[in-house]
Amino acid sequence: MLPFKRLFSRQILRKERDELVVLCRNIFCSSQNSQKSATGTEKSESKRVDIIYNSDHVQLRESLRKIIDNEINPYVDQWEAEGHFPAKTVFKTLGSAGFLGVTKPTEYGGLGLDYTYSVAMGEELGYINCGGVPMAIGVQTDMATPALARFGSDKLKKEFLQPSISGDMVSCIGVSETGAGSDVASIRTKASRVGDDLVINGGKMWITNGSQADWMCLLANTGEGKAHQNKSLICLPMNLPGITIAKKIDKMGMRCSDTAQIYFEDVKVPRGNIIGEEGHGFMYQMMQFQEERLYAAAVLLSPLEKIIKETAKYTSERQVFGKPLLSNQVVHFKLAELQTEVELLRSLLYRAVALYIEGNDVTKLASMCKLKGGRLARELIDSCLQYWGGMGFTNEVLVSRLYRDFRLISIGGGADEVMLSIICKYMNTLPKQ
Ligand SMILES: Cc1cc2nc3c(=O)[nH]c(=O)nc-3n(C[C@H](O)[C@H](O)[C@H](O)COP(=O)(O)OP(=O)(O)OC[C@H]3O[C@@H](n4cnc5c(N)ncnc54)[C@H](O)[C@@H]3O)c2cc1C
Repeated sequence: MLPFKRLFSRQILRKERDELVVLCRNIFCSSQNSQKSATGTEKSESKRVDIIYNSDHVQLRESLRKIIDNEINPYVDQWEAEGHFPAKTVFKTLGSAGFLGVTKPTEYGGLGLDYTYSVAMGEELGYINCGGVPMAIGVQTDMATPALARFGSDKLKKEFLQPSISGDMVSCIGVSETGAGSDVASIRTKASRVGDDLVINGGKMWITNGSQADWMCLLANTGEGKAHQNKSLICLPMNLPGITIAKKIDKMGMRCSDTAQIYFEDVKVPRGNIIGEEGHGFMYQMMQFQEERLYAAAVLLSPLEKIIKETAKYTSERQVFGKPLLSNQVVHFKLAELQTEVELLRSLLYRAVALYIEGNDVTKLASMCKLKGGRLARELIDSCLQYWGGMGFTNEVLVSRLYRDFRLISIGGGADEVMLSIICKYMNTLPKQ
């Protein structure tokens, strides 16, 4: 197996680098990259040292890239056709190499690194030739487990976090319901206290990894008080009596990722399965959303650049009206504009992450990353698909798959309008209700 986990068995001191050297390397790398990009070489991106990255990040990305090239990408077309990918097998491979616990505590098998490493990993996962597998991995690393790692008891961490880091368990995050998506506070699923147990009734909708998961990080109402203070996050084993996977949802994109509707009828779990303090679940979930939103932007960067490169290559070969399509100014100017937008998203993300690892509240910037990422994905992939003509409308090219897959970014994990509302709150422009 890959050596990355061994290399990082002790926590790495982050600020041990000479900034001048990094700056010089950046200048060198960017000129190298710009030369290589004309020929469509992708690997140079993984080797890029950048504002928040040093050579350790580069090494992490290279190790992950080997797994992607050898154990994921060769099967993606098959998984997409089948509408399913084997999460347990893929997670075991990633977990054994250390990739499911990059930022998690070392006591539970994690690497104890800071969040820049999670972003580096997200960027590299973008080289997977679909959106579904990176989304499923992100659920495990950045959506279902951050609150558990931060606030969970030692017992819960041993039972759920440790095997999620090693890849022995698949997790899912249960927030959305049929009647509550954007408005998380209005969820109806209830966990009532009966002696030392909680008895759960209700249901969750749109649950990624839902039909394969061993446990769910469940948001449920555990009290009667105010909507922001009556909820708890609960570690819920998915093999308990009373849990029904009602259906696997057939979707236009993210085809290989399983998305389930799940019902709970008198499901009993110990009260000790509550993560952190009872009644703090809404707040924990809002914190957990920060990493989800940064991850969503990180995972977009590589595929968006890849689509630009593939489009440049295709249009340079495609002859229309006796000359390469790319030689029309409208085409090469558009690609230059889109590349500029990707760099803007990258800069915003790196700034948010740099502030986040220093302990700052980056709710506003993380929301901006998610908003900008979703909108840019729609504009960029749609614009590029246009230049592929009829080929862009087939299932034979990556651009059409990503057109479908990344449409989700503006909807899932908080729609664009929810991001705008959060940004307005921070700008003090949201009307009081
Ligand atoms: C493939 C997929 C995977 C998912 N995975 C998970 C998962 O693992 N776990 C989980 O808990 N959830 C998951 N979700 C759910 C996802 O987070 C929700 O779909 C999302 O939060 C939007 O909720 P909704 O679908 O109920 O839309 P609604 O809340 O009904 O909103 C509909 C639309 O209304 C608009 N809108 C919302 N608020 C406002 C406003 N204030 N002003 C104006 N317009 C507004 C937005 O455009 C929004 O898209 C997933 C969804 C999909 C499709």
